[in-house]
Amino acid sequence: MPAVVKVSPVIKGYRAHKYAYDLIGTDPDSVIVSAAYDEYLLKNPDVVARPEIFEKVMREILNKPRDRSRSFSASSAGYCMRRQELAFLGQRQKPNLEPRGIRIFNNGTFVHLRWQIGLLSAGIIDDIEFLVTMPKLRARASLDGLGTAVGGRWGGADFGWEHKGRMSFSWAAQDRAGAPDVKTGKQVDMQMLLTGFDVWSVTNENKDTQEVSEFVIQRDESRIKDARNELVELNAAIDKQRLHPMLPECVKQNKTGEFFKCPFGGVGGACINSGSWPNRT
Ligand code: SF4
Repeated sequence: MPAVVKVSPVIKGYRAHKYAYDLIGTDPDSVIVSAAYDEYLLKNPDVVARPEIFEKVMREILNKPRDRSRSFSASSAGYCMRRQELAFLGQRQKPNLEPRGIRIFNNGTFVHLRWQIGLLSAGIIDDIEFLVTMPKLRARASLDGLGTAVGGRWGGADFGWEHKGRMSFSWAAQDRAGAPDVKTGKQVDMQMLLTGFDVWSVTNENKDTQEVSEFVIQRDESRIKDARNELVELNAAIDKQRLHPMLPECVKQNKTGEFFKCPFGGVGGACINSGSWPNRT
């Protein structure tokens, strides 16, 4: 895993702020979502949406979580290969036994819905939770949103949109770096592979302050090739019925590493129990 976040080329020319006067001197033309959304919010501070938008969002709330097994999901791109294979095979995951963890997860869902209502109402995106698949590579992605950029540097380009709520420290680190984290970069690569889109907007919102950074990522064919190769390798593991080995840090059961964070990790978890191939798939 490289130590340096490198998602390139990334264009970041605007940082959305809570005060209108901060917009002065930035370059709203270089981003797709945040500047237009700030402008919309200043004119429409109350949450008011057309009934069809609430209906669309309501359908998402009422939708049962999708069964993601038998496919490789873009949201898992960048995770350990073995983890992605165990997810594909629908192996048992550790339940989230902490109410706090469940609250964090639910909060993330509603933050996404808040943004989706806002961006649909502002006419910045056209659709939400849009499913794209690539059956040949058993791959799928559910896009937070998609649309066609209106004006500015990207005017006329079809774009995908990915939203992330970030803890203060990671929000600040990514804002300073001018790029989202490595895992988000890989997710976007796979989403670009599946959609064919050339640009992607990633909005990071600070969970404590609601400050927003936006990163516009341009398609980079060498990265798309890497995303494709990773999927080919994952598919080969499934076809040959041979899982990738455990990460060395997980073999050592490193207390601060993935072994205890991963839904398949832990003593007695699916990862340890599966060996080179689980008994039941
Ligand atoms: S426990 Fe570690 S090696 Fe096993 S699937 Fe999870 S991250 Fe990968």
